[in-house]
Amino acid sequence: MGITEPDENVESRIRAAAALIRSARYLTAFTGAGISVESGIPPFRGAGGLWDRYDPRTLQIEFFLRHPDQAWPVIREIFYDNFGRAKPNRAHEVLSAWERDGWPRGPGSSERGFLKCLITQNIDNLHYTAGSRNIAEFHGNSRLLACLSCGARVEAHADLLKNLPPRCPCGGIYKPDFIFFGEGIPEAAHAKSQEAADLTDVMLVVGSTGEVYPAALVPRRASDAGAKIIEINPEPSEFTGSITDIHIPLKAGDAFRRLQEELRV
Ligand code: NAD
Repeated sequence: MGITEPDENVESRIRAAAALIRSARYLTAFTGAGISVESGIPPFRGAGGLWDRYDPRTLQIEFFLRHPDQAWPVIREIFYDNFGRAKPNRAHEVLSAWERDGWPRGPGSSERGFLKCLITQNIDNLHYTAGSRNIAEFHGNSRLLACLSCGARVEAHADLLKNLPPRCPCGGIYKPDFIFFGEGIPEAAHAKSQEAADLTDVMLVVGSTGEVYPAALVPRRASDAGAKIIEINPEPSEFTGSITDIHIPLKAGDAFRRLQEELRV
């Protein structure tokens, strides 16, 4: 049973969520593909999703290793040409501002709270571009390329992607530094997420179906450890009926605008 009832209106949910954020000692956020939809990046699945247009095989690690010359043109189109044009939206910007400047603890209070950790499943770099720095990139990112031979990491500049597959000076092939189907979660990001889940008292869960594992275990672990879960998603998810305390059924941009307004009151 959540803090708010399913039939309570959105306004009272925003007020209840803002009160939780105001009082949070260790606020964290967990984001999924939905937070980037208003930046023009479609989710993978569902109508209009990426897999309507592209073959998901190109992101299977075995296929990539065997046929980098076939996989790379598709990868460049999705993750560098298309994602590369996207700009952070209000939701990314508010989360970045909460990490950098915090939010007022309450009317007249000079004390501020700060977003302590942002865990994202996204690989579009939009949190980073918006200025967030304390990020656990659970699935890696497309900002960097990693050499399959020597392990060197470099920024994915357009020049490097002119001739495919891109190659490291050592002769090895570069792979985007996000995980492909069949690969494990990056160790450092995994450890950072576990720590955040254990420490947090309030977690925002934004734009995630909760169907992708093991990522979906992060908010579940936080809830098990006693954290309150505020979910922002226009649709119900796997989290909604199970761990969510307050569901704000709005698009991420609208929800963060209204939360910001409420926190300034
Ligand atoms: P997902 O499981 O992350 O779910 C997308 C969710 O976003 C849905 O519940 C949907 O209702 C919600 N949503 C849609 N519009 C929204 C909005 N405006 N505001 C808030 N929520 C909104 O999505 P998926 O597409 O199945 O992704 C699976 C995995 O694929 C992700 O975990 C991620 O690693 C990867 N992925 C990343 C990106 C990206 O980097 N932007 C894009 C697609 C997929």
